[in-house]
Parts: sequence; structure tokens; C-alpha cells
Amino acid sequence: MPVHVDEKKWAADITLSSGANVKKCMKCGKCSGACPNYAEMDIHPHKFVSMINDCDVSALLASKSIWKCLSCFACVERCPRDVKPANIIEAVRTRVLAPQGQNRLTPEGLPKFIKDLGEDAEKIPQQLLASAFRKYSR
Ligand code: SF4
Ligand code: SF4
Repeated sequence: MPVHVDEKKWAADITLSSGANVKKCMKCGKCSGACPNYAEMDIHPHKFVSMINDCDVSALLASKSIWKCLSCFACVERCPRDVKPANIIEAVRTRVLAPQGQNRLTPEGLPKFIKDLGEDAEKIPQQLLASAFRKYSR
């Protein structure tokens, strides 16, 4: 099937902003094997790499995986070719959020959010907050 010209441009933009080199992928699947949220994802990390390589971007933009990724970077650590699948997922997520033009999580909103958690606030991993800002703010 011919690739739509916009998808080619989107793939090039996402590749550039992610800093990933999808051409280096050898399709070993180790990134997906390392992903702690593999079962929740409709498109897995190694597929993000191959689909960007194939300029199949629309499906990635609609994927629920961009909201399920924990930004833990286990896939980046595991990749033997330094492809950085998580960076691609983050770049796709940013592409979806950017046109929406507003934050759903702000630094100002955090104190109330944390206070409402009561004693459970101490259990929040710092990584979760960093990940939430990546997902829910511009
Ligand atoms: S960064 Fe996302 S895709 Fe990569 S291993 Fe973690 S949860 Fe999975
Ligand atoms: S671990 Fe790296 S080389 Fe292997 S499939 Fe994933 S991105 Fe490609």
C-alpha cells in the first residue's frame, strides 16, 4: 500500500525529535521482552520502531500504548543497538498532545493532589511523577 505523504513527514519528524535511529533495529524483540507493561499495550515497543521505519504513523497516533508506556526506559536499556524505542513512543505521545494546547497536569496542581492521597503520598515513586508530567503536560 502506498504511504501517504503526510505519514512520511510525520515519521521523519518523530524520528528527528526522538533522537532514535530506527534503521539500526535488527528486530530482535528484546525491547518488548523487557517491557513491564507489555500485556497492556496494543502495539509493542519493537513495533513502534518498525512502524516508524515503514511510515505507518496513523496507527501509532491512535494507539493506547502511548498512554500505557510507563517511561521506565527498560526497553532503551535492553536494546543491543541503542535504538531507543521509549523515545519514539514519547515523541508520538507528544505529537498527539501538542495540538491540544493545554496541560492536564501542572506543578501548581500537585500539592493538592499529593495532599489528597494522605499517607499514601509517601509511596509515590518519583519516577511516576516524572512520567506523569511527560504524559499529561506539554
Ligand atoms: S519505557 Fe515504555 S515501552 Fe519502554 S519498557 Fe518502559 S513501559 Fe515499556
Ligand atoms: S531491542 Fe532494539 S534492535 Fe531489538 S527490536 Fe527492539 S529496538 Fe530493535
